Amino acid sequence: RFPQPGPRSGRSRLLVLAGPTAVGKGTVAAAVRENHPEILLSVSATTRPPRPGEVDGEHYYFVDDAAFDRMVERGELLEHATVHNKYRYGTPRMPIERALTQGRTVLLEIDLQGARQVRDAEPSATLIFLLPPSWDELVSRLVGRGTEDAEERSRRLRTAKGELAAQGEFDYHIVNDEVTRAAAEVAALAR
Ligand code: 5GP
Repeated sequence: RFPQPGPRSGRSRLLVLAGPTAVGKGTVAAAVRENHPEILLSVSATTRPPRPGEVDGEHYYFVDDAAFDRMVERGELLEHATVHNKYRYGTPRMPIERALTQGRTVLLEIDLQGARQVRDAEPSATLIFLLPPSWDELVSRLVGRGTEDAEERSRRLRTAKGELAAQGEFDYHIVNDEVTRAAAEVAALAR
């Protein structure tokens, strides 16, 4: 029914945004969505409980472990991972396939493990690594948002060290020193 997209431009419309904890992936992804409503921002499933203000189906699909297991068993997730050794997160496959078939660009905001799985499943995906302006800036952003206690912060910073070391696996590197500019650079990769 829908017209098929024309010959591939050589650039995938599947964009994956990853980067270390507290670098501002969520903020940049939200800015992309605001300025580019034509880009589909994938909504992940997670076993994490909602934070105040988070809406089911908008920020995440909040599910319990059994429901997450069923999604995995049925092959409904493009990728999934346990993040920060705690909760499980995964990307529903269907909305992405539908959007890509319609010629839309799709943006995933996921962790490094998920980005690697998407790259393996969809080698044409464009992998974008969001970088902090500096290590000190990353630390102060994590402390500043105040959502984690000291133990959780040091665990996340250890993970972040490892994640920064993996940036060479990515196609593009964008420094998040200014959200609007970083978001514009991400959206520009969609064209
Ligand atoms: P938060 O719980 O703070 O919303 O997210 C924690 C981490 O989970 C972030 O690094 C975020 O990128 C990652 N994440 C969110 N959704 C997904 C997903 O569907 N798959 C994977 N692998 N990671 C995700």
